[in-house]
Amino acid sequence: MAKVFRRYKKRYRRATIHAQEASRCIFRGFQGPLTLEHVFSRWTHRFLPPRRMRNYQSVHIEAHIDRSDRTLIISPGDIRDWQVRCVCANTCNNGWMREGVENPARTIMAPLIDGGDFLKGETCMITPEHQRIIATWASLKAMVAEFTESGRVTTHHSQRKYLKDHLSPPQTWAIWIGPYLRGSWAGHWLSTPFLYHSPKQELRWGTNVRATHYNGHISTQVVGQLFIHVIRSPARRFVQGWRFSAPDKGSLFRIWPPTDTIIKWPGQFMSDRDADYVATAMHNFLIERIGPTLAKAVSDLNSS
Ligand SMILES: [Zn+2]
Repeated sequence: MAKVFRRYKKRYRRATIHAQEASRCIFRGFQGPLTLEHVFSRWTHRFLPPRRMRNYQSVHIEAHIDRSDRTLIISPGDIRDWQVRCVCANTCNNGWMREGVENPARTIMAPLIDGGDFLKGETCMITPEHQRIIATWASLKAMVAEFTESGRVTTHHSQRKYLKDHLSPPQTWAIWIGPYLRGSWAGHWLSTPFLYHSPKQELRWGTNVRATHYNGHISTQVVGQLFIHVIRSPARRFVQGWRFSAPDKGSLFRIWPPTDTIIKWPGQFMSDRDADYVATAMHNFLIERIGPTLAKAVSDLNSS
């Protein structure tokens, strides 16, 4: 193990996002003219900070037995302008996406994003049905955002179809929300696609295989005072058993997979430290823990 630890290293590469827009509607496979979809919906723009140049960040991780390869991507520009040409106009953008996702979400999310009433001490109840609506909106945005970066699409087509047909996130996704009072933390969108091999896969394929795809993805979206965190991975039990422990004890509620719990909002507002911790917790876990854990699992398999 010590040897593995010594060999274990972190590497960063820097790259620029090359938008590779979809050639077909990402939800229906429709091959006609496509329209632009905002990652930050137009109705959220008035809740965002003053317009100026800012970045969104994306860190790509390949977790291997002896190392993690990381690529840090920082894209300039205002997040309001971030749109992806990936959906058909009639059936999707102006159809189920508007009627089934945006409109219901807007009603429920606008007060959470504005946050003003809650800072004055008011509270509200977020029912399981409302949690599903928020989770669906968040998943839709996460699915669309993936198409900004070539080769970074981690969501399978069947999961996008599931969202469209059921107006709910895929069952294997995990989604959290929390009330967030921003200080100086700069995150608006953080994205970490990752590749995770099980010990058996690592044995079979070896550790020198260069990733051509990712099979998991962590993304954080902050809209006004609403903090949203989405994780998807083939390691379903691992992701759904994942727990956060925010350093300043800010509230973070899991809204997907569904529970029958009613959330009393806001609880305690998340601090900058809480936001940064949650946004990077699994990312750090993948880098610091998965490699050594995989190494031990592979050695156990070898010796059994
Ligand atoms: Zn479509």
